[in-house]
Amino acid sequence: MKLQFLGATGTVTGSKYLVEVNGRRILVDCGLYQGVKNYRQMNWQDLPVKPEKLDAVVLTHAHLDHSGYLPLLVKKGFSGPVYTTPGTKELCKILLPDAGFLQEEDARYASRHGYSKHNPPLPLYTEEDARKALKQLQPVAFNDIHKLADDVSIRFRPAGHILGAASLEVFDGHELLVFSGDVGRPDDVIMYPPEPLKRADYLVIESTYGDREHLDLDLDAFVRLIAKTAKAGGSVLIPAFAVGRAQMMLHILEQLKSQNRIPPLPVYLNSPMAIKATEVFHRFHERHRLSKEDCERIDAMTHYVRTVEDSMALMEQNYPSIIVSASGMASGGRVLHHLKKMLPKHRNTIIFAGYQSMATRGEKLVHGATSIKIHGQDVPVKANICHLDSLSAHADAGQMISWLSSIKTPPKQVFVTHGEPEAAQAMSDRVATELGWNARVPVLNEEVQL
Ligand SMILES: [Zn+2]
Repeated sequence: MKLQFLGATGTVTGSKYLVEVNGRRILVDCGLYQGVKNYRQMNWQDLPVKPEKLDAVVLTHAHLDHSGYLPLLVKKGFSGPVYTTPGTKELCKILLPDAGFLQEEDARYASRHGYSKHNPPLPLYTEEDARKALKQLQPVAFNDIHKLADDVSIRFRPAGHILGAASLEVFDGHELLVFSGDVGRPDDVIMYPPEPLKRADYLVIESTYGDREHLDLDLDAFVRLIAKTAKAGGSVLIPAFAVGRAQMMLHILEQLKSQNRIPPLPVYLNSPMAIKATEVFHRFHERHRLSKEDCERIDAMTHYVRTVEDSMALMEQNYPSIIVSASGMASGGRVLHHLKKMLPKHRNTIIFAGYQSMATRGEKLVHGATSIKIHGQDVPVKANICHLDSLSAHADAGQMISWLSSIKTPPKQVFVTHGEPEAAQAMSDRVATELGWNARVPVLNEEVQL
């Protein structure tokens, strides 16, 4: 087998791995770079492999940093199958067209306001491109061994994290190459723990939290923030990833409300994508901790803001409320309009609930930015900003180590990716010292013979 790292090296986004196994070329994950501009610009560069030369794509999960390059890959000539779990397929049907739509909107907005470097501003791909790519998705159930050839098979293993998320095994008849995918935490509020791996001859692992441990979920702090904001006559905005974190926040809010622990403020979900993702949660109860009744209680509590008109009406409203909106790192979507309105007022509170990638607006805000650029305008930051990192969907460093320790025979080599440089190195060091395995951090486009 040969493995080449085509993304998620030195950063948490852009996951792409080329695996050449017994004459087949498989792209594992097909993610977009997000966040820092230098990285985002890499989305415009050609991959070192021609898309038409790939035999298959396999996605570990639906987050755009693992799936969002797919429409472009198809547009550039990839016509083969894209294997995903059934949950990932459903979520990709929501996320990918939306990603195309947002890129078209950004390009239109940039051309109206003249702040793009491309002239005329171009989307990376369109909603139409994304819909075309969806036709190539082929679901494979968790734990099924799926043969790509007589001597090449793949298998998805539940990884927690978000609905449909998997670790991936690639087997050539002799050796087992395993990609951790994004690994959930054992104590996630809505997802089940990742299943133990048991065996890996070669292993590629994520390291989003490679140099950090989560604090315990401090619901009291969350409750106090909401109470304080309501008392001041302000509103609470929770930027949340549309898939997973948004549903988790609604579940937590519903519980706190029904226990009368927070004031009876109206709760809005203003993200068409998160609303659709919530519907998918209703259909996959066996894959997450929320029961049918939990989902129904969330529905009963939440005002779903679907249309642009309703979204604009919500912006105009000054009554204190709790608004959950996407995207989670404030890199796009309707949350930007809420931020523009809410950031300049002291009485409002913005609660970030998840990992904030470098140089995103979310990362700048949680690190104390006093002003932030939105749609080309400088917006002063007066609102109270808070980061509840304890709500992340990723395992922390200690949780990763204990998850890995289920592998009894040491892998020949562990490759640590999907982390900022310090986090990846710290994870690699811990794997080496605490598990005694060979571990290292690969560089972009590095090829290794396994
Ligand atoms: Zn993810």
